[in-house]
Amino acid sequence: MAKLSAIEIYKNLPKTNCGECGFPTCMAFAMQLANKQASLDQCPHVTEEAKQALSAAAAPPMRKVAIGKDEGKVEIGGETVLFRHEEKFHRPTGIAIKVKDSLPDDELEDKVEQINRLGFERIGEIIRVNLIAIEHSGTSPEEYAKRVEEIAKRTNLPLILLSQDATTMKAALGRCADSRPLIYAATEDNWEEMASLAKEFSCPLAVEGGDLESLASLTEQINQTGVEELVLAPTSEDMLGYLEKLTLIRRLALEKTFRPLGYPVITFTDTDDEDPFQEVAQAANSILKYGSILVMEGMEPWRILPPLTVRQHIYIDPQVPNAVEAKLYEIGEPGPDSPVLFTTNFSLTYFTVAGEVEDCKVPAYISVMDTEGLGVLNAYADDRLSGETVVETVQKQGVMEKVNHGKLIIPGLVAVLRMKIQEEGGWEVIVGPEDAASIPRFLKQEWPKLKSAKQE
Ligand code: SF4
Repeated sequence: MAKLSAIEIYKNLPKTNCGECGFPTCMAFAMQLANKQASLDQCPHVTEEAKQALSAAAAPPMRKVAIGKDEGKVEIGGETVLFRHEEKFHRPTGIAIKVKDSLPDDELEDKVEQINRLGFERIGEIIRVNLIAIEHSGTSPEEYAKRVEEIAKRTNLPLILLSQDATTMKAALGRCADSRPLIYAATEDNWEEMASLAKEFSCPLAVEGGDLESLASLTEQINQTGVEELVLAPTSEDMLGYLEKLTLIRRLALEKTFRPLGYPVITFTDTDDEDPFQEVAQAANSILKYGSILVMEGMEPWRILPPLTVRQHIYIDPQVPNAVEAKLYEIGEPGPDSPVLFTTNFSLTYFTVAGEVEDCKVPAYISVMDTEGLGVLNAYADDRLSGETVVETVQKQGVMEKVNHGKLIIPGLVAVLRMKIQEEGGWEVIVGPEDAASIPRFLKQEWPKLKSAKQE
C-alpha cells in the first residue's frame, strides 16, 4: 500500500485530542504514524472502519524487537530509512561478544567480568558492548543450561542463546527465560520446535536462512504460529554476498514494504585469530550495512573500540547539531599564567582538544565558541568563525581578565584570523597546532617560552 501522508491518516482519527495515545493531539499522533514511529493500536478510540483503512499503511515497515528486560534491554529494528541523511537511524546496533559454554569455569567467569566492564568514554558518552552470546559447543543440554544460568547471574546484559538443538534450547530457557534472551536460531529443520519455544517462553526468535526466498517463507510460517518478534539471520559464504543480502533485506523491507523481511537483522563476524584485523573490518561493515545486532568473537579493547566508534557516528542524529555547551572550560586548575586555547563547540573537536590538554597535564582554559556544532574549518568556511566572532566570544567569557600574559592560542587551521583578532581584541594571538595531537608537545615545549616572550 502506498505511504499515507499525516493529513490522510489524521482524517481517519477521532480528532478529540484526548492524548491517550501518548501524543498531545491527534495530528501529532498522525505525524508519528506517517513516519512509522508509532503504531495504530496506541489509539484506543480508533474505529474498526478506520483501522481497516489505516492498519496496513500505518504498520512500521520493520518491526521493533526487544531483547532482555528493564534497564539493560536492547531494542532493535523499527528503522524507516535506507540512508542516514534521509532522516536518521533510530536504534543503534547491539554489539555482542560470543563466549563458548565449554570454557573452564574460571575463564568463563573472567570473560563475563571483562565483558561487563567493556566500555569507553568518547565524545562525552559511554560507549559499550550490549549483549553476551553463549555458544553451545557440544556439551549436554543440562551442562549448557547450567552455564547459561551462571552467566545470567553474573551480568545484567541481555543474552543470545546460540544452539540449534531444541532440547538444549528448552533446557537453557528453563533457567533464564525471565531475562528474555534471543533464541538463535530457527532453521528449515527445526523451526516448528523453536517457534513453539519462543511462544512458550515469550522470547524473541532469530530465523536463519541461506537464500532470501526461503528466509521469507520461514518467517511467514513462524508468524502464523503467533510468534511475531523475529530477527533475521541471513548467511553467506563470503563478505560480499553477506553485504548484498543485508542491503537487499533492508531495501525490500523499507522500499517495498515486504513484510516477511520486515525485521531487524543479526550479523556475525566470521574470522579466526590468524587475522584479527579482518574481524574489525567485518564488524564495521556490518554496522554500516544495517546489522541490528553484531556478534563478535574477539573482545580486546583495540578490537572492540573501532566498531563502537563506527556505531556512535552512524547513529548520531544528523539533524541535531553534535555540540557541547559554548562556554569557558577549565582543564585542571588553571591560574594566571595558564594558556588560553580557543576552539568551536563541535563535540568531536572539543573533546579531542580537551582530551589532549588533560593528557599532557598542563592546566589550561579552553574558550569554546558556539558554531552550532560546526568544526573549525567548516565554521570558518560558513563565516561563523571570524575575527569579530572570536573576539566577541573571548570577551563575553572574560577569560583574558583571568590571565596575566594577554595571549590567546587559536587553531592553526585558522591562522589567517590572527591579525584581525589581534587588532580587534588587543591581545597577542599565537597560532597553535593544526591538529589536536600536536597540542601536548606545543603546551609542554612551546608555551613555557611563548608565555613570557614579549610581543613583536
Ligand atoms: S488517543 Fe486517539 S483520539 Fe486521543 S489524541 Fe491520540 S489519536 Fe487522538
